Amino acid sequence: MITILRLGHRPGRDARLSTHVGLTARALGADSVIMSGEHDEKLIESIKEVTKEWGGSFQVSYEKNWKKVIKNFPGVSVHLTMYGLPVQKKIKEIGQKKDVLVVVGGEKVPSEIYQLVDYNIAVTSQPHSEVAALAIFLHEYFKGKELDKEFSGGRIRIVPQERGKKTVEK
Ligand code: SAM
Repeated sequence: MITILRLGHRPGRDARLSTHVGLTARALGADSVIMSGEHDEKLIESIKEVTKEWGGSFQVSYEKNWKKVIKNFPGVSVHLTMYGLPVQKKIKEIGQKKDVLVVVGGEKVPSEIYQLVDYNIAVTSQPHSEVAALAIFLHEYFKGKELDKEFSGGRIRIVPQERGKKTVEK
């Protein structure tokens, strides 16, 4: 079970990025995302709507108390941060764990997080984006197998084409 915890969401300012955290988590094989920061029903509904349309069993929820989420998680917690240890050095060890909580920050990350988690992991030691860091982490964790994931149920699916767009109703 792979759960993503998104810290510090601010409705309006982070709407697009937080949506992309959720959609990237879903598309690349995670089971659920927990949004923290300010409650934003529109954000939660927009991700649920994608699952309804495109299938799968991805779950999305809100939890104000992000520390409780980390402390109560029944597996290992991994905070993605440019200050952490390189993903390529630690992924073998983390890849053996079945239940992983992947924590991604927003504009500001509370400093306690570095002590609370089991692993602080960097996807390069350069600043970039929570969406990019999450995508690469999941790709490394699943060793590329997430690219073939099938999404059961839903209303539509894409038939891949060399050119143009083709979808079929399920
Ligand atoms: N300034 C913030 C801080 O206090 O660390 C970080 C802001 S950054 C735009 C938002 C999030 O992107 C971070 O919390 C982290 O989860 C992720 N991130 C950015 N660069 C990263 C990197 N090189 N490796 C892993 N995660 C990264």
